[in-house]
Amino acid sequence: MMGIHRRAFLAGLAGLGLPLPLHAQVARERLRLPLIVLDPGHGGADPGAIGPGGTQEKRITLPLALELKRVLEAGGRCRVALTRSRDVFVPLSRRVALAREREAVLLLSIHADAMPPGQSQLLRGASVYTLSETATDPLAAALARRENLADRAGGLRLPSVSPEVQRILLSLMRQETRAGSERLARLTVNALDGDVPLLSQPLRRAQFVVLKAPDVPSALVECGFLSNPAEEALLKRPQHRAKIAAALAEAVHGFIGRRVAA
Ligand code: ZN
Repeated sequence: MMGIHRRAFLAGLAGLGLPLPLHAQVARERLRLPLIVLDPGHGGADPGAIGPGGTQEKRITLPLALELKRVLEAGGRCRVALTRSRDVFVPLSRRVALAREREAVLLLSIHADAMPPGQSQLLRGASVYTLSETATDPLAAALARRENLADRAGGLRLPSVSPEVQRILLSLMRQETRAGSERLARLTVNALDGDVPLLSQPLRRAQFVVLKAPDVPSALVECGFLSNPAEEALLKRPQHRAKIAAALAEAVHGFIGRRVAA
C-alpha cells in the first residue's frame, strides 16, 4: 500500500511541475543511462569448449561477465543486463532478442576459444569478432518481409510507410549498426592490447548468430584458448579475468562516451 501511495504522490508532484525529491530524480537519471547487455557464452547442458585440464568454457565466461558487470556498474555510466546470470542454457536467438527488446546500446558476447584436436594446441591469445558482412543481406531481406517490421526494428517507429521505404530505412539502420559493431570491436582490441595476449590478427569476422541483431551494435570476445594449457591456467585465475574485465570495461566506456558526445 505504501508503495502505491508514494508513487501516486510522486506522479502528483510531477504533474504540478514541482521538483521531485532527490531520490526520485536519481532513480530517473539512472533509467536514462545506456543499457549494456553482456552475454556469457554457453551454459547449462552446453559447456562450450573444454580445456585439457577439464576447464569448461561456460565456467569461465560467467564469472568474467559478472566481474565486468560489477566494474561497469561501479563506473556509474551505464546499466548492465546479462543474458544469463546462472548456469542455464539460453538459446542464441533469445540472447539477441533480449538485447533488442531492452534497446541495449551494445551487446558484448564473452567466450573462450579452443582449437580442434589434432591442430596446434599452442595457439593462444584473445580475439574479437564482428558479424561477417556477407551474412547480413539474407537476414535483412527476411526482416523486411515481416509485417510487424516497425515494432521489430526497435527504435524505428514507422506507422505506415511503404515496404520500399521500410527496406531503405532498415538498410540504413543496418549500416549504422555495422559501423557501431566495428567501432566496438576496435575499441575492445585496443583496450586488451598490452594487458592480455592477442592473436596475431585479433580483429576477425564470422557468422555468429548472437551478433545478428540489426539494430544493436554487437561484438564477440574470445578471451583466449582453453586448448592451450598455459592459457587455460590463466583463464581460471580470477586475477587474470579481472584484467580482461577491466580492459572490456574501458572499451565499453569508450563506446558509450563517443556515443553520448555524438
Ligand atoms: Zn564459446
